[in-house]
Amino acid sequence: MNQSTGVRCAFHPDAPALTYCSRCGKALCKSCVVRLSSGNYCARCAEQPEAGPAPARPSFMRWVLVGVVLLVLSFLFRALFR
Ligand SMILES: [Zn+2]
Ligand SMILES: [Zn+2]
Repeated sequence: MNQSTGVRCAFHPDAPALTYCSRCGKALCKSCVVRLSSGNYCARCAEQPEAGPAPARPSFMRWVLVGVVLLVLSFLFRALFR
């Protein structure tokens, strides 16, 4: 009855969402949801439920990059204001 409002399926804009994918969080209608023992998933996530959410990428490399950039900048400043 409440078809005018509410969340719609991520794949079917016309269909109301019944649940959300436990992994990617997409809204799923009843024809899209795949029920597994570990929860409700979209078709794509249901194919690889064991993978789990992507592990947080270590920020170490990012900080190394920042350090290199700062080093280059400091050299530039030294060259400019010598
Ligand atoms: Zn999913
Ligand atoms: Zn759907």
